[in-house]
Amino acid sequence: MTDNAKIILETINNSNDHLTAEEIFFKLKEQSYKIVLPTVYNNLNTLYREGLIRKVSIEGQPDRYDKSIKHDHLICQKCGKISDFNFDDLTNLINEQLNDSIISYDLKVNYICDECKKNSN
Ligand SMILES: [Zn+2]
Ligand SMILES: [Zn+2]
Repeated sequence: MTDNAKIILETINNSNDHLTAEEIFFKLKEQSYKIVLPTVYNNLNTLYREGLIRKVSIEGQPDRYDKSIKHDHLICQKCGKISDFNFDDLTNLINEQLNDSIISYDLKVNYICDECKKNSN
């Protein structure tokens, strides 16, 4: 793995946010790390292909990158905030209904977050 790939992977693994390529780029800039945005994109694609990171795609938003460790996502339909949540593993249920073995699944649950609920009162 190249130094660039390593530092990008570290940035994602050390963050509790779901960072876009640009946010990762600015984080590295803040640390005076010399890198250009296209290099960030290239490395993100490679890390994603190798299964080392996850991609969270939401309509109307740039792709966000995330730790590969298994977890699900709650997405607020009002403010667009993404929160991590661990629902019960559905792999067996899906395998049974599909009558086949899946590789993985990506669960995104839409809801209204507590903050937005409070604000609408
Ligand atoms: Zn919200
Ligand atoms: Zn996440």
